[in-house]
Amino acid sequence: MFAQNTLPFEEESTVFADLILPVPIPKLFTYRVSRAMSGLIKIGARVIVQFGKNRVITAVVGKLHHTPPTNYQAKYVLELLDEEPLVMTSQLELFRWMADYYLCNIGEVMNVALPSGLKITSQSKVQFNPDFDYAELLTEEEVGLLEEIKKHKSLSYEEVARLTDETNVNAIIKSLVGKRAVILFEQVKEKYKPKIARKVRLAEAYASAAGVNALMQELEKQTKQQEVLLRYLSFVPVQSNPGLNQKGLEKTAFTQDENSSDSSLNTLIKKGVFEQFEITVSRFADIPNTPAAVINLSEGQQGAVRQIQEHFQDKEVVLLHGITGSGKTEVYIHLIKQALESGTQVLFLLPEIALTTQIVVRLRKVFGDKMGIYHSKFSDNERVEVWKGIIEGKFNFVVGVRSAVFLPFTNLGLIIVDEEHETSYKQFDPAPRYHARDVAVVMAYMHHGKVILGSATPSLESYYHGQQGRYGLVEMFERYGNAALPEFLLVDIKAEKKSRKMKNEFSSVLLDYMQYNLEHAEQTILFQNRRGYSPYIQCEECNWISECNNCDVSLTYHMKVAELRCHYCGHKEQVPRTCPNCGSPKVKTMGFGTEKIEDELHIIYPNARVQRMDMDTTRAKNAYQQIIQDFENEQIDILVGTQMVSKGLDFGNVSVVGIFDADRMIHFPEFRASERAFQMLTQVSGRAGRRAGKPGKVLIQTHNPSQEILGWVIRNDYRKMYDTEISEREEYNYPPFTRLIKLIVKHTDRDTANRAAAALAELLLAELGHSRVLGPEPPLVERVRNQYLFNILIKLEREKINFKAVKSFIQEKVTDILTDKTLKNVNVVVDVDSM
Ligand code: ADP
Ligand code: ZN
Ligand code: ZN
Repeated sequence: MFAQNTLPFEEESTVFADLILPVPIPKLFTYRVSRAMSGLIKIGARVIVQFGKNRVITAVVGKLHHTPPTNYQAKYVLELLDEEPLVMTSQLELFRWMADYYLCNIGEVMNVALPSGLKITSQSKVQFNPDFDYAELLTEEEVGLLEEIKKHKSLSYEEVARLTDETNVNAIIKSLVGKRAVILFEQVKEKYKPKIARKVRLAEAYASAAGVNALMQELEKQTKQQEVLLRYLSFVPVQSNPGLNQKGLEKTAFTQDENSSDSSLNTLIKKGVFEQFEITVSRFADIPNTPAAVINLSEGQQGAVRQIQEHFQDKEVVLLHGITGSGKTEVYIHLIKQALESGTQVLFLLPEIALTTQIVVRLRKVFGDKMGIYHSKFSDNERVEVWKGIIEGKFNFVVGVRSAVFLPFTNLGLIIVDEEHETSYKQFDPAPRYHARDVAVVMAYMHHGKVILGSATPSLESYYHGQQGRYGLVEMFERYGNAALPEFLLVDIKAEKKSRKMKNEFSSVLLDYMQYNLEHAEQTILFQNRRGYSPYIQCEECNWISECNNCDVSLTYHMKVAELRCHYCGHKEQVPRTCPNCGSPKVKTMGFGTEKIEDELHIIYPNARVQRMDMDTTRAKNAYQQIIQDFENEQIDILVGTQMVSKGLDFGNVSVVGIFDADRMIHFPEFRASERAFQMLTQVSGRAGRRAGKPGKVLIQTHNPSQEILGWVIRNDYRKMYDTEISEREEYNYPPFTRLIKLIVKHTDRDTANRAAAALAELLLAELGHSRVLGPEPPLVERVRNQYLFNILIKLEREKINFKAVKSFIQEKVTDILTDKTLKNVNVVVDVDSM
């Protein structure tokens, strides 16, 4: 299927390797391979090379050949890190496609693809200089340290520090280097460290029923030692199953509760009753692994499976449109099992935040240790483990976020993209600015595999392809197990305000429902898509507003940490006690975010258990998981959150969902605003009433209950939303009828940014015409991190246009601007299929 990765070996001629360096440079670099290495090196293996004067970096072999470069002297490859390829030819093919399609360099793709644990870092080592001239005068400390260093071949700074009592080790080493007593050299070191467990097991002779009996008699008088043995047997019953002994038991598992047993165990080890050994263990052991109950698909689900399989006869991609709670996950599970049984690999993509949760636990129950998990909150080591595990065949099934498309699959039979409408599948920074859903489709094509895109609220693009017959379209309109869709209530905020029924942000209706829920031990989810306490603070006297120094946005007030924070650049400052402009003490908070809602809930319901879930409360690795668990265990009454609370969560006891500020989502000035608002509102609502017999209510607070889009949401009328929106898209030439390329021109000087953008637009217009080139115009937030921004939007029709040629034309013009001497330090971001 994919190309071979070794070079037919020719005895005499020198081997050259074209390397992919993790740098944003458009070409591959040719290095020379030493004779000794040339029989071993393979395409996709990592090597270490010198790049520039002082840099030593990891590169990946992209090509092997016998042609020396013509315009430079090829340097030697310094070291070969892998005997077998770490990057598969299938990946190289995909990376090339990504670089091409998203207008970036393959080095940039490689850089993002490889977990940093697979890149190499340099670390300084200290070594005694054999040519040292003792005539040099050394201090007493230096002599002492030098003697220590001499005893070893080479030492890291840390190791040197451990050998001596001196506190100023670094200074002494520096001085020793100056006196040429020691030399420093750069040692390249792999970052990945396998996780090692120290275990013990019974010696072979005792690992049976008879052996254990004999042993118990032997230890008759040593009760402590007997206890240790019995405790081991309680975990590892070798009497009934001698085979279990092989795996042994971690020492800590049966000794930690009693101090004395350690010494008894050690005695037993000395006696040769137990033996110690080390093994490499998986880092994923802490995710629960209890087998799942057997699930029988409902008729609706079986129908969906059947239709999907039929479409796969002649289509690569199927869109599964199933309403919230229709049981899509079980449909996926069924198809994943089939694909795995047929011997192919399977990739399951999820939006970033959903990953540490319920769905993973559900999948883990079914697929056990064969399932790898790839997530940005995992450590490097964990990610390397997944990467290597796929190559070794340990994981045939991987659940991951968008970056999982970079993993070393060689034989993908099925890719599932759950919540395919999610915008977090699109990477914005750094390049490659890829959309994981679209990459998945290309990937499956390369592997001759299939793709399922699943969503309760499909993106217009995918649904359009479904309508056009490019994708198979399968729909599920019923919730699983007769659970009803929630009932909606539109709460007119204006009317409530008029009759003074609002309590801060809460309508009286919402308060009534929450009160009822608290009294009946049912749970509530409140949704406000804005974090912090209030989006800005303002002076009542002079109308001064808190703004960021680096960006053109207001600073959000965060109460708990008592800070003003910029959500664009991270800038933080103290909250002024008086207005910085006029000195008035009347500075007040304006608007509200999740933190304010949480704060008010504590005041209104002092006894309720309230939890907030947003970026601020979920930074720690397991924080998100913990909140979900607590909510699931009904240790939280009211969960307040941003869109995080909407992502694919399945709770049985949520009967009320309250939505604040719906209007802001609907009126966002962006052509996808209606689609997004519909998706968001539908998804959040979908968390209510997910079990039969426990109907849910959704309360939407709005200033205008008669808005069309709210009607679509409450009638769950995706089709109406689609029809309305798609005809607008067609009329105004927006996706899916066109492809968008956004160029963002940046400069610290507004005028320069403006000039550069205008010049670029001019160049593009000349060839592409006014209907295809919009702008330049400043975006909503004109300045971010002290850079002024101007956007140019290029719309390209899907048919009858040479997309590739147009893209290289665009790239050429961008390069013209970047190399223009009158426009120094201009930066241009090229975002293909911008969102
Ligand atoms: P969706 O992803 O479409 O929103 P889920 O897959 O989460 O829906 O299913 C909704 C609920 O119904 C879940 O609690 C799930 O466990 C349950 N469920 C779905 N299908 C079945 C089935 N065939 N048997 C038992 N429970 C099911
Ligand atoms: Zn003021
Ligand atoms: Zn800022």
